[in-house]
Amino acid sequence: MKKFTKITSSIGPNSESKEVLSKMIDAGVNVCRLNFSHDVGDAQGKKIDFIREISAETGKPVAVLADLQGPKHRIGVFETEDKFPIVAGQKFVFDNDPTPGNSNRVQLPDMDVIHSLKPGDRVLLNDGKIEMKVEKVNSDSIEATVVRGTEIWSRRGFNLPDTEVATSVLTAKDRADLEYVLTKNPDFVAISFVQKPEDVIETREFIQARTSHPVKIIAKIERPQAVEKIDAIVDVADGIMIARGDLAVEVPFEQVPAISRRIIRLCREKNKPVIMATQMLGSMVSSEFPTRAEISDIATAAYLHVDSTMTSEETTISNNPAFVVETMAKVLKHADEDSIENGQDWSDAEELPENDWALSVTLMAELNKAAAIVVFATDTRAATWISCRRPDVPVYAVAREAVVANQLCLSRGVFSVCNEQMFESKDAIAAAKWFGLESGILVIVDGEKISLRKLG
Ligand code: PEP
Repeated sequence: MKKFTKITSSIGPNSESKEVLSKMIDAGVNVCRLNFSHDVGDAQGKKIDFIREISAETGKPVAVLADLQGPKHRIGVFETEDKFPIVAGQKFVFDNDPTPGNSNRVQLPDMDVIHSLKPGDRVLLNDGKIEMKVEKVNSDSIEATVVRGTEIWSRRGFNLPDTEVATSVLTAKDRADLEYVLTKNPDFVAISFVQKPEDVIETREFIQARTSHPVKIIAKIERPQAVEKIDAIVDVADGIMIARGDLAVEVPFEQVPAISRRIIRLCREKNKPVIMATQMLGSMVSSEFPTRAEISDIATAAYLHVDSTMTSEETTISNNPAFVVETMAKVLKHADEDSIENGQDWSDAEELPENDWALSVTLMAELNKAAAIVVFATDTRAATWISCRRPDVPVYAVAREAVVANQLCLSRGVFSVCNEQMFESKDAIAAAKWFGLESGILVIVDGEKISLRKLG
């Protein structure tokens, strides 16, 4: 059995050559994530060209996900040193003055942030290592008290968990990055620091005004404001990334597993793919072997029915990104096999609607002990919906268009191919054989038509 859970891998300095990318795709990468916080323009364009070339040479669909930086806030720089000591109880000012800071003040370049904060709001710096409380908001500065922390470093991230920032989810940089990447027809665009459903709608309008390419939008959930509106966000997005890095700074970290479980369940109910992200194999940046906790985290994500797990720095700056992917694929394959052989956990599926079309297809496959479900995919809908019922047989999706085959790379248990002739012939037997199946019952889905065929 092939692994059902997909792998989304971040591509960076140590994985951007065509040779390494080929090895990673061969080892199990289904979606390549290009992080626009680190590279922009042609540096990203070149990676997309390589991915498309490898896909054409191997006949294997691979999706390209362009991940926009979003409104990530950072403080300015300090005088003479890169850091300054601070103590709990002292006052600290964030202002709009670019003069290097000291133990009492530093620049916060983003006026939208200053104007959004209220007295009593918490601000967190350096991945939550520093906590301050806002005391007073002036027209161009905020005065805060240090609650926790011993030193403050230049250019560190500034999180404001209690505050909805009154700004567009697309910064000027994101708009420029989007203008560029849309010329390369990405399969997915991920938006960072989403706060509300309107952020997804605004991004969709921006994209649709520039291209007719059917780009899908992944909303990254990393703010408490997004968690509060998660139902409405899942409704309007095409998929979700649980961005545990920033999420664990902005909400108490012990809540992240429960939030993740709720999001996975919601995504399944609303037929949207979901990616579990961050630190899944973080130790492999510098170690050849994963920690026991990482192995367990990956397997738990598979048992919880995510569509995809994700690699971050472990595939951008480690020495052997393909080995990291191999390691993740091995853990996923074992968990997926176990899940199918020893029973999937259906306890979260109770709220699926009655008369659910995709559930009927899944039950039909299970009652007939089918070997596979073959979908002739005009778009991603039918295969994604069936995938969200988590059948224990593979879904073979035959697409007419490359973008559909690529986008289905994110969906759990879906194996796609772009082959116009196979799509037009509607020959499910030939399609199943193409995917390597020799015998068994097939459930065939072609638009509204659902039928059974025996192979072999
Ligand atoms: C995260 O915060 O978990 C994440 C995936 O976002 P980024 O890597 O873009 O900070």
